[in-house]
Amino acid sequence: MHVRTVLGRIAPENLGITLGHEHLLIDLRGLWENPPPERAYLTDQEPTLENLGELIRNPYDSKLNLLIDDPELTITELLSYQKVGGQALIDMTTVGIKPDPQGLQAIAQATGIHIVAGCGYYRQPLLPESLHERSKEEIADDLLRWLSEGMYGTTIRAGLMGELGTSSPIYPFEERQLRAAARVQQKTGASINVHPLIWGHEHLHILDILEEEGADLSRVAISHCDELVEPAWHARIAERGAVLSFDTFGSETYFDRSFAQEPRDTDRIECVIRLLEKGYGAQLMLAHDICTRTQFHRYGGWGWDHLLRNIVPRLRHAGVSQEELDTIFIETPRRLLTLQGD
Ligand SMILES: [Zn+2]
Repeated sequence: MHVRTVLGRIAPENLGITLGHEHLLIDLRGLWENPPPERAYLTDQEPTLENLGELIRNPYDSKLNLLIDDPELTITELLSYQKVGGQALIDMTTVGIKPDPQGLQAIAQATGIHIVAGCGYYRQPLLPESLHERSKEEIADDLLRWLSEGMYGTTIRAGLMGELGTSSPIYPFEERQLRAAARVQQKTGASINVHPLIWGHEHLHILDILEEEGADLSRVAISHCDELVEPAWHARIAERGAVLSFDTFGSETYFDRSFAQEPRDTDRIECVIRLLEKGYGAQLMLAHDICTRTQFHRYGGWGWDHLLRNIVPRLRHAGVSQEELDTIFIETPRRLLTLQGD
């Protein structure tokens, strides 16, 4: 048994405290949308103290805010996580948002943090059209190769599949990828992590597709569940045996053009407590899903130490025990990342 990091195998018991969904290097500029005239000036601006307020409300208005491509900066930011006890994380950057296995390797070497890389394709709208018609078999071959030989032309192997992108409604390519992943899971035992569209309610539909194709739902995690403050809906996902990834802690952004806003961490904590009360504590992972510069300390954000430094004390104050915290931060990620064979 082992966990496969970007630097090779480690014993599962050495993984330690793990963030379930992060992006160390990412190019999310495919999600940039032309801002309204009054915010057009933000398009090519780097985040600064002057525009921070505006970018916290509308993070996707600045292209440079959506690009994290400086390994040195990432290393500096990660040291804050390590300083508060962080030991490991899962990088979920898949094809479409510019995965960089060699960059991850360099960051792991420089920090000593265990980095496990996911593999796969992100949402169809961010993929070149030439990929849209890929068959289930071809996608399965891709996933299997990335897990068993190496990702994207390197010999650096993925440790799981994800985040696999889905939209609402789910595009045909996205459904084929889910089915392919279920097949590859049966061959390799690798776990699956799915990105659902944030405010869509496709979670159960996604689980239906995976289950129909033979996936073991106890080795499936659904990302971004904490973007919905809906405990009853969370319980319906948990009932199916899947892991809920509450991975947007620290993200309390507004989206002015659609009059939408993300939940607050206090809402997320409330939802964690409700799942614990219902006995689903072993089906939860937490993370920050950092994917914009304004989330970094360098640019005024709360950084990768936010959960351990700010949220864990609040969870304790709400009555969460050390044992429950260990399950969330150590045991569940370790279970999902543990592989048999080679
Ligand atoms: Zn995602």
